[in-house]
Amino acid sequence: MPTPNHSSVRGPLSYRSELALAPGSLVRVPLGKREVLGIVWDAQAGEAQERAASSDKSLAGVLEGVAPLSNNWRTLVDFAARYYQRSLGEVALAALPPQLRDLKPAQMARRLQRATRPATASTPARPENQAFSVANATNATNSVALSAEQASACGHIAQNKGPFLLFGATGSGKTEVYLHCVQALLAADPQAQALVMVPEINLTPQLEASFHARFGAAQVVSLHSGMTNPQRLKSWLAAHQGAARIVLGTRMAVFASMPHLQMIVVDEEHDPSYKQQEGARYSARDLAIYRGHLEGAKVLLGSATPSLESWTACERGRYQRLDMPSRIGSAAHSAQQGASSDAQAGATLHSGLPKLRLVDMNLQPPKTVLSAPLLAAIEQRIARGEQSLVFLNRRGYAPVLACNACEWKSECPHCSAYRVFHKIDRSLRCHHCGFADRVPRACPSCGNVDIAPVGRGTERLEEHLAELLARAQRPDGSPVRIARMDADSTRLQGALQSQLAQVHAGEVDVLVGTQMVTKGHDFRRITLVAAVQADSALFSSDFRAPERLFALLMQAAGRAGRDAAQAAHSEMWVQSFHPLHPLFAALKKHDYPAFARQQLAEREQAGLPPYGFQALLRADARSQEAAQDFLKAASADAQTLPGAELVSLYPPVPLGIQRVANVERAQMLVECASRAALQRFLWAWQPLLWARKDKAVIRWAIDVDPLLI
Ligand code: ADP
Ligand code: ZN
Ligand code: ZN
Repeated sequence: MPTPNHSSVRGPLSYRSELALAPGSLVRVPLGKREVLGIVWDAQAGEAQERAASSDKSLAGVLEGVAPLSNNWRTLVDFAARYYQRSLGEVALAALPPQLRDLKPAQMARRLQRATRPATASTPARPENQAFSVANATNATNSVALSAEQASACGHIAQNKGPFLLFGATGSGKTEVYLHCVQALLAADPQAQALVMVPEINLTPQLEASFHARFGAAQVVSLHSGMTNPQRLKSWLAAHQGAARIVLGTRMAVFASMPHLQMIVVDEEHDPSYKQQEGARYSARDLAIYRGHLEGAKVLLGSATPSLESWTACERGRYQRLDMPSRIGSAAHSAQQGASSDAQAGATLHSGLPKLRLVDMNLQPPKTVLSAPLLAAIEQRIARGEQSLVFLNRRGYAPVLACNACEWKSECPHCSAYRVFHKIDRSLRCHHCGFADRVPRACPSCGNVDIAPVGRGTERLEEHLAELLARAQRPDGSPVRIARMDADSTRLQGALQSQLAQVHAGEVDVLVGTQMVTKGHDFRRITLVAAVQADSALFSSDFRAPERLFALLMQAAGRAGRDAAQAAHSEMWVQSFHPLHPLFAALKKHDYPAFARQQLAEREQAGLPPYGFQALLRADARSQEAAQDFLKAASADAQTLPGAELVSLYPPVPLGIQRVANVERAQMLVECASRAALQRFLWAWQPLLWARKDKAVIRWAIDVDPLLI
């Protein structure tokens, strides 16, 4: 039985019970002075009792009306805890909705009553429901005729085991493949359940809308951190009881209890948001693969720019790759549909993706933000009544405010970072610790009143564009409408949806935003996308930076020309000081395979993932020295372990932003050619780390398969 709030690797605790409880049962148990939620992990009393000192304690009660969690669910949690080096209790309880822990038994009973009432009415096993889902699946008025590429992918998925990697261009109709496969599954088995994951909460409403339209809202529930706790409990119970046939969610949904799970879809599988960045640092994508294997459920990963891990898994024959290279409605698409397909057409086929326009910023006047040709192209769009999207991955007005007379800069007193200038409310805000105050009237250091913004964020870019486009003309002669979409503009509940609706309705001519706007959205009127400042990732010390940049730019390009009628003149603009970088050559041809080949060759040389395996040991302390001392001592400990010769331990280094909220951060990279050997090493190492009781160390953590290094 796991216990909450302890992060050590301690195993389950034992309790006495008069009742014979099935493993997976939810119970209430005393822990110290409190009573907490527990899960019966195993019932082999003898063995369990030997393990724990608290075996004299009795269970306080059983959570009535909630079926035990399945063996598969417990195996998944057990695997996740082991693989990501966390305690079972921590992972198990984090995987359950918070209210399951917090509600009093009487409150819980009421919730259950409410949850089961509508649920019984739609329990899939009942005949009228069976009829509903079959009817829904075999005509359904709201489903579309599949393209040849979609039909071939769906056919393949139906007949094979997978896991599958759906390598589909942006706009090739991947969502329709998910809908179709889920529909076929639900029609074939009246109990079957499907889990569909997206990387970001922002993208869930759109996916919800498609699934509600296809399956009816009663069969679909969502699970993500943007929901209230009562909503989460309700969704969780519906899935756990089998009433909800489809769960849509973000990474946390990978742990949803689904007794009849038969399919898992991971959309935009390359997206870094699938990796949890605190607590148990799990990858929901990787756990989806494991869970699929465990439950015999088909796993479908989808992306236009797959992670190099998944790409390699295809090359090694572990996953099956399904290609959908053409956009719905493109010339390639219609030729392939048989309209005019012949050998000659084959030579002129294009996938319908926008053309890349690279601007060499070395040839532009100094301090140019938007080059003249890019500006002209945007004006052209405005004159035609089309939309443009300009993105810059930095919110706020300017990343730094500086004094022109002395050395003062808007440093955060608590972090090794600058506070960002937000002009809208004249504040200086730290994006790392949240510390904020008003912009000073004069330099706090020398009293000079001439303090000025340095660099630019989306707020300033919006302002700049408004100046540059002041005289541009819309088709009816009216002024240009510019809107901004980033974490600031969408902070209020519902703001994102209403802003998206404005864009869809054509009420915006130029949309400025952070990478938030580049993902997933099915914009129909955008014919130009521009990345104004993308260079920094080219020379990052993180070996995954090029992979992320390529994915970002391809995703962004994917927002342009989604309406087939406009695809031919849609463009992706990139301003760069390094236009000859090989990344852009591959991007120009939309050639992900070429990019992957080049990146993988480099990684193989260096023994980097997916050719080697990594973990990080991270330490937070009051001083950088203390953090690094802990890591050095841990490294010395490691030398004594069996198998230590198989792993490489690198010297400790401070994190990129080494101090956040007055905490100094350091990390140490661990590499190994074998995943299994790395796992064995980490398990042997952990007790030694726990045994260190350095007072100056606030916390430490192991990150397995880290994404940000
Ligand atoms: P992706 O996720 O691959 O970028 P989407 O799933 O957003 O692409 O599909 C792009 C657009 O094509 C959407 O507007 C979708 O409704 C439309 N679409 C998808 N499949 C079909 C089809 N078979 N026939 C007509 N339109 C389709
Ligand atoms: Zn000054
Ligand atoms: Zn700060």
